[in-house]
This record gives sequence, C-alpha cells and structure tokens, in this order.
Amino acid sequence: MQPIDPEIIKQKQQAMQHYRTRLMVINKRLQQSTDFNNIITELEQPILKLLKAQRITLYRLENNGKELISAFKTGTTPNNIRIPLSTSSIAGYVALSQKSLRIDDVSNDKALSAVHPKLKFNHHFDKLSGFNTKAMVATPIKKGQVVIGILQLINQTDEGIFVDNDMLKAEELANVIAKKFSKDSNATKGPFDYLLHNNQVTLKQLKDFDERARKQKTTITSLLMTEARISKDEIGLSLEKYFQIPFMSFDPNIHLPTELCQNLNTAYLKKQGWIPISGNQEEAIILIDNPSDYSRIMEMERVLDVDKIILRIGLIDDIYQYINSLTETSEEHLLDDLIDQLTIDESNIVEEHKEESINDHAIVQLVNQVITDAYNANASDIHVEPGKEKQATSVRIRVDGLCRALLDLPYHRAKEVIARIKVMAGMDISERRKPQDGKLKVKIKGQTVELRVATIPTVNGECAVLRILASGGALPLEKLNLSPENLKNVEKLTEHPHGLILVVGPTGSGKTTTLHGVLNKLNRVDRKIWTAEDPVEITQPGLQQVQISRKSGFTFADAMRSFLRADPDIILIGEMRDKETSHIGIEASLTGHLVLSTLHTNSAPETITRLLDLDLDPMSFSDALLGVLAQRLMRTLCKSCKQAYQPPQQEIDYLRRQYDPDNPESLQIDTTNLTLYRAKGCEHCGDTGYSGRTGIHELLMVDDEMRKLIYNKSSVALIKKHAIKSGMKTLLQDGIIKLLNGETDIQQLHRVVAE
Ligand SMILES: [Zn+2]
Repeated sequence: MQPIDPEIIKQKQQAMQHYRTRLMVINKRLQQSTDFNNIITELEQPILKLLKAQRITLYRLENNGKELISAFKTGTTPNNIRIPLSTSSIAGYVALSQKSLRIDDVSNDKALSAVHPKLKFNHHFDKLSGFNTKAMVATPIKKGQVVIGILQLINQTDEGIFVDNDMLKAEELANVIAKKFSKDSNATKGPFDYLLHNNQVTLKQLKDFDERARKQKTTITSLLMTEARISKDEIGLSLEKYFQIPFMSFDPNIHLPTELCQNLNTAYLKKQGWIPISGNQEEAIILIDNPSDYSRIMEMERVLDVDKIILRIGLIDDIYQYINSLTETSEEHLLDDLIDQLTIDESNIVEEHKEESINDHAIVQLVNQVITDAYNANASDIHVEPGKEKQATSVRIRVDGLCRALLDLPYHRAKEVIARIKVMAGMDISERRKPQDGKLKVKIKGQTVELRVATIPTVNGECAVLRILASGGALPLEKLNLSPENLKNVEKLTEHPHGLILVVGPTGSGKTTTLHGVLNKLNRVDRKIWTAEDPVEITQPGLQQVQISRKSGFTFADAMRSFLRADPDIILIGEMRDKETSHIGIEASLTGHLVLSTLHTNSAPETITRLLDLDLDPMSFSDALLGVLAQRLMRTLCKSCKQAYQPPQQEIDYLRRQYDPDNPESLQIDTTNLTLYRAKGCEHCGDTGYSGRTGIHELLMVDDEMRKLIYNKSSVALIKKHAIKSGMKTLLQDGIIKLLNGETDIQQLHRVVAE
C-alpha cells in the first residue's frame, strides 16, 4: 500500500474544520431569525458555496400531508411549486422513501427508472427558466421519524456530479433546516407529547404502556384509551400534532373506494395495516397507523399503482374495522339483488360498452357473498363453471359430499367473477390458458376462512374450484362416532410407543380429521410431534406442522428425513404414496417412533397387499404395522325432519343378508320393536332430508396371526377372513349398525359402500 501523504490528510482536516465552522454559522443565523424567507435568501450564497451547488430548492410538506410546497428556490422560476407525494417525481419519491437520493444526470431516464420504475425528472421548470438541471442530491428534512420537507442541491460546481460525501453534507444541512422548520411549526417531538403537555398522561405511564404494548398483544393507543381514559379524539389530536397529518377515526358511513380496494386481499391489508379510504387511481387517500413507516408506504405505492398518495393517520383498530367492512355485507338478500341488478344491466347495454359498465363493486360483493353463503351452508367446495356459448355460468357448492346449485350468473359475468377470484388468490389474471393454484383468506363472522383455489381452462372458458379448508382445531377422538369397540381399539393402538398406524380411504373420506383426532389424544407436553401435510388443514397447538410443497420439490420423503433428525416421538406423514415414503415410514416406526399416515385404498385388508406390492420388505412391514383403519363419510338424516317407520320383514331380511350373506342371523336385531328413519326435507336441510355426515369404519388390528399372513404375502381374501374372525366389522357392517341406530338410510349407505 502506498503511504498517504500527511500533507493531504492535513489539508482534508482543515477543509473539514472550515466546513464545520461555516455550517455552525449558518445554523446559528437560521435559528435566530424570525423570518424564514428572509434569512434563507440571505444565506443562499453561503450555503451554495459550502455545498458546492449551483442551486438549492427547499420543499415543505403541507400540513394536510398531501403535497410538498416549494419553500425556497434559487433563480427566477416561479415560487410555490406543488409536488404530490408520488414516486413519479424526485422530491415526491424522496419524501415517500425517506431516503436521500443522488443522481448524476436527471435526464438519464434509465438511471432514474433503476431507482424506481415510475421515477422521472420534470423538465417543465427548466424550460420555463432556461436553466439546465443535471446532477442532483435530494434529501428528506426530517423531524424525528417524520418527513417535514425536502432539500435538493442542483449541479455540483466543481466536479459536475455529487459524490456520497456531498449527500452526507446535504443531510447535515437538512438537519439544520429541520430544526428551524419544526420550531416554526407547532409540531411536537413525540406522538404523545400533546397528551403529556396537557397532563393527560405521565411520562411514567407512557413508558409503562409502551413496554406492555410490546410484550402483550396490544397498542399504546388502546392502553391510553382503556387505562388512562383518554378519548380517541384527543389521541388523534396528539398524533396529528406530531405527524402533521390529519387524523381519521372509523366512520361506518364512509364507503371505501372500490376501484382501489377490489384487488386487495383483506389478510394482506391486515398484515400491512393500511387501507385506501377514498380517492381513485389518480389520487388515493390512505389511512395508516404510522405515516413515517416508509417501507409500508413504498409497498402501498407499488401495490395500488396510483399517481399520488395522500396519507391520513388512524388507529390500527380503526384501520382493521375498515378492512373488516370490506368483507361484511349488511343486507341479507344482497346476493339476490345483485343478481337481479346484473341481469337487468345486460339487455340495455350495447356490446362495446359492456366492459365499462362493469359494476366492480357488485362483482366484489358477489364473490364475497358466494364464499360466505358456501361457508354458512357448511360446503366443502365451490365450483364456478362457465356454461356453453352464452349460457349461464353455474355456481355450485358441495355440501356433505354432494353438489348443489347456489346460483346462475349471466354469461358475461363469469369472466369477471373468475378474474376477481384469481386476484383474491394471488394468481396471474392475464394467464387464462394454463391451470393455476392459489390460496385466499376471507373473514366471515370474525372467523378467518382459508380457501384453496384452482383454475382450469375448459372449452367453455376458465372454471374455478374453491376448496374451503377446514379451519380451527381437531375434533377429539371421542367425537368421531367410532363404534365403542373401534374407539377402544384405536385408543389401544395409540398406546404403542412405536409402530405404524394407517388411516385409509378415498379423497374426502375424512382421513385428516381422524388422524388429527388421534394426534389430539397423543398430544402431550412430553411428546414431540411432527406432521407433514398437503395441505395443512387442521392446526393444533403443540404440533410442529409442515406444509408439503410439490411445486418447490419438498416431498413427504424429504419431510420424513428432516423430521428424523429433529428427535420426534410421533410423526404424521400426510400420505404414503410412493415406495420411498413408505420405506422411510416403516424404518422410522421400527426405530422407536409412532408413525401415522394415510393411503388411498378402499379397505383395510387391501391396504396391506397394496403396500406389499410396493416391494417393501415384508418382514419389516409386518413388524411395523399396528393397525389399519379404513373409513368413509356417510350423509346422515336431518334430525329436524327425519321420519320414523316400522320396517317390513323383507327390509329386515335384506339388511341381514347385506350384513353377512353367509350368516344373516349374525346381525342381532330386536325385530319386535325396530324403528328406522327415512328422509323428508325441511328448511334446516335445504329440503334434502340430510344434514351432516358421519364416519363409518373398518378397523384391522395386527396380531401374531396377521403378522404371519403379512410376512407370507397372503391374499386380500385370507387377510380379510382372519381380520373378521378376530372381530373386525367391515365398512358395510359398521354402516348397517349406524343405520339401525337411526343415523342414516340404506340409500346413503349404498352411496359410499358397494354391496
Ligand atoms: Zn330437515
């Protein structure tokens, strides 16, 4: 390294000293003056010399948080330039981002758009004055965390461009000016200073609230209201005086701007803590709890893609209230009205005006209403299916396993509804030719409901399927309607410290619910439980739950391998769909872990041969397997309207033969006093006669004899025979017993179990 010339160091130190002294003088004169305009004109030349700039421009933020107004500008250009808070101007961008910006050439559009895609230099004033702006440093004038103005230095006099050191100097000058600006304004130093000055709260209280707000799930403002008994308006006034921005509280009469809100996911807004309160794409007024949080402001700017942003300050609870009002609907029959309204529109509109006539608000409300209605009807899925050319699009919901129509949409509304759903689920709306997957969350009656969304292109247009994910916690094992014998045996299975337990059945047979019921039983502080699921539908405190992602290549097998390194006692592996996963599952269950999993098989005995077909080691598998529970969900009769009847003898004989063709008498029925029920239909069950579902089960317990059969790769028939001999009831038998209990009828049983 070359030795640094001590003479140069000395010169630099002297220059620095000189700069400091002059800055101090400027500061002193500025603070002592009573007329800002006067003093800044006087100080102009010293400042320009000190910072080696040709020009200086100062902006002050308007009290309403709307615009920057030029407070001072060198040269002959007109005063009072107003610049909106927007990323499209340099001063506006610096005010929003709250960071200094150094530009070598303002005419270099590429360099500007690298800072922000919208950023541009306005040449208008240069043209007016004949001045040529080239290099620039812009820095926020801040009081604490709050931007109160912008300082711009234009054209470096020595080198032509500014360097980082010039930016630091500009920031120092900005601090000096900030002191003066805030002295002149009646702005307070802290957000609650106004309350302190008026003795409405003490400093000690404030510190205590601050600490508690951080530790507990609350805010200082709510503690000020509940404990210090300060009104919301007073708190608002205090915040106004600090942030110099108007305060707004929740007002139910305010209609949120649909143009701005329609694309916003409420869960996202809640995380962000802001909401567009009025305005449009040109100028949006946003309510936020901290107007100096630039990262959120820059994000809102990007997400909303509006020309100007005007900030208002509000309490976070009020902001949430606004966000909630996005999903709530006041009128019960709004949907019908909306549909009527939409249908009427159609006939009167000429083709080319249709697009413009889109009642965005109606579409947003319509989609929200469909989801709410489906949720309230306990639906598992919503299907939006476009009809053939010009025919109505049907919206159907699946309730208790069966689809029913919810409503028909006019043909041309289908696209809008699908587009809205795609926006809510974070999908690419312009992509209509490929299937897409997404997720969305809505709030219904204060409950967060999550939906998994899939769109699929069909010959008639895109269709969408929304699966409502079961929210909330697990059902206890006792609530799963297992027969007393099965419940006892499942509990016995869970007492094993290690081994493999399988729950099997087709999609939608309630396997996840059952597995979580089992985990609920096993979930104790002294046990470490890991789950890998696709998707995670039920959450339970105490479990470590992991979502499988096929997209990013995180598989069940990957999850298993990482779990085994994380010292688990119990592992739930969503599905054993391949050899690798099954193999690791069996290995894990042989090395001291209790492993739970599922398979898409029809019966318990079949499950065993299916796994053996995967080429698993029969010795390990027979050692590991504890039991297999096969299940189905069967619709149950509506309790409000089911009709009792005395079954004729042939119906009883039929049930007996169904129960056991070889030995019909094995079904014990008191035929003299047997009451069965049939479906009728009432308003509670949507006139279907059925409401809710119950599980029917088939539990195969592995004993020594069964272990031998597995080891010898025996046939399904042999395995089934032995299982029944040791007490297993088949799905059909369990269903018949539930039928005899009056829970369902034979049609429903036959729907889910073949004869
Ligand atoms: Zn009913």
